[in-house]
Amino acid sequence: MNEPAEKIKPAYPVRTCIGCYAKKSKYELVRIVLHADGRVLPDSDGKTGGRGAYVCPNEDCLEQAIKKKRFDRAFRCSIDKKSMVNLKNGFTECLKTRSEHY
Ligand SMILES: [Zn+2]
Repeated sequence: MNEPAEKIKPAYPVRTCIGCYAKKSKYELVRIVLHADGRVLPDSDGKTGGRGAYVCPNEDCLEQAIKKKRFDRAFRCSIDKKSMVNLKNGFTECLKTRSEHY
């Protein structure tokens, strides 16, 4: 087999932001997880199980995703308003801790 030398795969998995549809490394995006109990929260340590969706670490993308009901589509169920408010609060917290890390 003659593999071309320049055939390099990206070293990281690429995910799409459901707010702006930008493709980025999953480490650059915030993973939002639908928990088994119906809560929708950012996955701050990357270890939470459940269905996930990705958004850029900024509130505009989260806002877009919420407005256009992309979480409903990503999670294949309807997310109520209360969960979205919780998600927004959690997301803001998550961004704060992220900026402390970098
Ligand atoms: Zn985005």
